[in-house]
Amino acid sequence: MVKFKNEIDKKLMLHLHPLILMVLFDAQFYLSENYNYNLTVTATLSDSEVDKELGRESTTHRTGRAIDLRSRDMNEEMIIDLVSFFNDKYKEIAAVPNRSGIPTLIIVESDHLHFQINKRYELPEVNSISDL
Ligand SMILES: [Zn+2]
Repeated sequence: MVKFKNEIDKKLMLHLHPLILMVLFDAQFYLSENYNYNLTVTATLSDSEVDKELGRESTTHRTGRAIDLRSRDMNEEMIIDLVSFFNDKYKEIAAVPNRSGIPTLIIVESDHLHFQINKRYELPEVNSISDL
C-alpha cells in the first residue's frame, strides 16, 4: 500500500501524468513483493511558489512529471536494487538531466528518491496548487 506524508499530496497526485503514477505503483509492487515494504510519498505536484521556497531548479514537479518518496526508512540494498532495476526498466520514459545526458528515472537525494519522467510528458503548469 502506498502511504502519503500528507493529504494534500494525495489529492494533488491525481493531477500528475499517468505514466509517473504507473511507475509509482510499479515501485510499490516491486518493493512489496521483494522487501515487504510500503512506500511513503512525500511530494507530488507543485507550483512555482512552492518550488521557489524549496529552491527547486527543475520544473519536473510543477509540470506533473515527478514524485518524491521517503528513503530514510529504506535500507541501502533496497535503494541500490530499486534504482538500478527501475532506471533500466524505464529508460525509454525517464527524464534526461542536462548534467549527465543519461536517461535517469530515479535520482537519489539525501532524504528522498526523486522519480522523474521525460519532458515530452510535460503537463501545463498550474498557477497555484491551492486552486485545485
Ligand atoms: Zn523531487
